[in-house]
Amino acid sequence: MLTQYKSLPDGLLDLPAARLGEVLPGPALIHLPGRHTLPLFVSVLLHGNEDTGWLAAQEILRKYAAAELPRALSLFIGNVAAARSGVRRLDDQPDYNRVWPGSEEAHPAERAMMQEVVDAMRARGVFASIDIHNNTGLNPHYACVNRLDQAFLHLAALFSRIVVYFIRPRGVQSAAFAELCPAVTLECGKPGTPGSVEHAVLFLEACLHLSEFPAHPVAPHDIDLFHTVATVKVPEQASFGFAAPDADIDFVSELDHFNFRELARGERLGRVREGSPVRLQVRDENDIDIGMRLFDYCQGEITLRQPLMPAMLTRDERVIRQDCLCYLMERIGVP
Ligand SMILES: [Zn+2]
Repeated sequence: MLTQYKSLPDGLLDLPAARLGEVLPGPALIHLPGRHTLPLFVSVLLHGNEDTGWLAAQEILRKYAAAELPRALSLFIGNVAAARSGVRRLDDQPDYNRVWPGSEEAHPAERAMMQEVVDAMRARGVFASIDIHNNTGLNPHYACVNRLDQAFLHLAALFSRIVVYFIRPRGVQSAAFAELCPAVTLECGKPGTPGSVEHAVLFLEACLHLSEFPAHPVAPHDIDLFHTVATVKVPEQASFGFAAPDADIDFVSELDHFNFRELARGERLGRVREGSPVRLQVRDENDIDIGMRLFDYCQGEITLRQPLMPAMLTRDERVIRQDCLCYLMERIGVP
């Protein structure tokens, strides 16, 4: 499934994400040389509808089309087929950011492909790894890390002062590369929002010019560090909606305005239908359901039992079904 290239395929830089399939037969790993030989690894379009990463990579590659890159660059273009349809993944595909080494999912073909990418980058002595995403709710730009090492935090802080540390879900790109080098996931807001591509380009440019990671620790006042304590899902069999009184779960209509707001105990997220036994699925990092600890359902009202900050809350019903409703986080100190 994977095709590797040692130069840019002709015509690639002229194509939007949806038309990459006209040049690429599928997922592609493109190795380009640079002055520093250990490569920066960048992955884009693991989710087919999230094109900020591709647009940023395109801009960097156009800029260096006639000049040497400051550092070698290996670009992985992930779900070309889903990009053609403008969706996160096709119905018969796994999520391309859940099948990297460490994954708990089946899907042997895709897992073997991601293993091949990791092996290729290990052999090249990868310098750092960046996985670029968008999301669907109202979220600020932020970086995620899967390790609380200083080099990881330095890399994250180059993108945003908001940094999220998580170890679940498993099988994500950044967790796989954390075994090899400093690795981050970038969340660049909704696709198409003004400034997103520019922000990603500035970050990539800074990474390409980084000769090494600073030895001193990140200053605590330079980042706001949050830890993901739970992933929240809507049970498959339950109906849901926003300001939809007939659904099993009726969320408040402006739910995504709660993103990255530190919510107080008692904050109301919605209600379950009168007498319904339906509950949100709330799993912690050890995959244990902690729903009853975090949520109260008194008189059908869904409220928080403790202060928490949501991220990635979305009103996109397909994303909620395919991925999750949100993550819940708490602030932690910088190590
Ligand atoms: Zn994504």
